[in-house]
Amino acid sequence: MSDTGRDSPGKGPGGGVEQAVFTGSFTQQEPLSNAAIGAALAVMRHGRLHRYNLAPGEAGEVALFEQEFAAFTGARHCLAVASGGYALATALRALGVGAGAPVLTNAFTLAPVPGAIASLGARPVFVETTDALTIDFADLARKAVQSGARVLLLSHMRGHVCDMDRLMALAADTGLAVIEDCAHTMGATWGGVPSGRHGIVACYSTQTYKHLNSGEGGLLISDDPDLMARAVLLSGSYMFHDRHLAAPPPAVLARHVAGTPNISGRMDNLRAAILRPQLADLGRRIAAWNERYRTVEAGLRSTPGLALIERPANEGFVGSSIQFRLPGWPAAAIEAVVAGCARRGVELKWFGAPRPHGFTARYAHWAWADPAPLPQTDRILSGLLDMRLPLSFSLEDCRLIARIIDEEVRAADGERAQGARSGKV
Ligand SMILES: *Cc1c(COP(=O)(O)O)cnc(C)c1O
Repeated sequence: MSDTGRDSPGKGPGGGVEQAVFTGSFTQQEPLSNAAIGAALAVMRHGRLHRYNLAPGEAGEVALFEQEFAAFTGARHCLAVASGGYALATALRALGVGAGAPVLTNAFTLAPVPGAIASLGARPVFVETTDALTIDFADLARKAVQSGARVLLLSHMRGHVCDMDRLMALAADTGLAVIEDCAHTMGATWGGVPSGRHGIVACYSTQTYKHLNSGEGGLLISDDPDLMARAVLLSGSYMFHDRHLAAPPPAVLARHVAGTPNISGRMDNLRAAILRPQLADLGRRIAAWNERYRTVEAGLRSTPGLALIERPANEGFVGSSIQFRLPGWPAAAIEAVVAGCARRGVELKWFGAPRPHGFTARYAHWAWADPAPLPQTDRILSGLLDMRLPLSFSLEDCRLIARIIDEEVRAADGERAQGARSGKV
């Protein structure tokens, strides 16, 4: 479906060998549909972009989007806001987390997650990572007791969902309220239950690289009326309580008015207008991502030295990105794979890089949070590679990408083995 050139020949590192090169873009998402563009034009023509600026009898795009997203997840309440990070901070505030409070969270996550904790003056307590790239339950149980935290901000990083039945049992035992960061799991499930429906509240992002694209944007869902009343008030609702179709009743909101500051961060009608048709189309997009994911995965199944992340049977994932490990590989050999793939147009992100590159920053880079060392996470991230799978890629693109990675890993693996035999490392 994309028109990027494919499989054009290139020069190998040795000079003579012709090698396949991929020329597609890893940052190019699908364009917006005509339905989304039409909805945006309608909002721009009438000019009522603010969510509370409504004509008589008009519900407004934001309120309708909230209602539709609540229905999509099965949650009673939904609030659309300015960003995913804002949604996380709002969830923390709505739960009463304050300055100085410890908040447990995954060490393997994206910077805005501990950033949301820090935005309240609270303190992130990072928990170890498993080989499956999910939170380590033993370390979580230990740190829940040690830290005295009341809240776990659980990040389903890169779309990997932990065993949510065990997680929720552990949270109940240790008295933790669970906020789910579903930035990478919109549309995913665990045991048939939508991701975001296990914890007390869940947050999503509609930033361009997530599963819905409005440039920036975020969502909160919850069944808890008091928590969501506080979230609506925090987002800056100016007493327009009746203009929320997926919020608790105005009487519940009224109970919280006096005690809740306005920390302005609403969504606008223009963004909601382009999100509604995308939400209606999400099923198709999820199927398309998963076909691409399974195609790349199949192409890497027999690559020596490479470990795929096996997906649990209970997990219904959305393969908008793929991760694999080169466990035990020295840094120089992984750098050779990343450089070899880059030379052939395949953008791999390495979580073990000494300095942060874009979203691949890891917990040790967040010096402001004064993180304690996490040897297990360090070991896993030192061999972890990550790749986006934008829907602008065709299945043929995915087969070529897998072939390039396979060839580059084999080449580096061969040199690694030779180096080991000649005692070089
Ligand atoms: C993108 C992202 C966020 C934050 O979302 P923004 O909308 O960019 O603020 C939070 N958590 C994870 C894991 C993310 O990838």
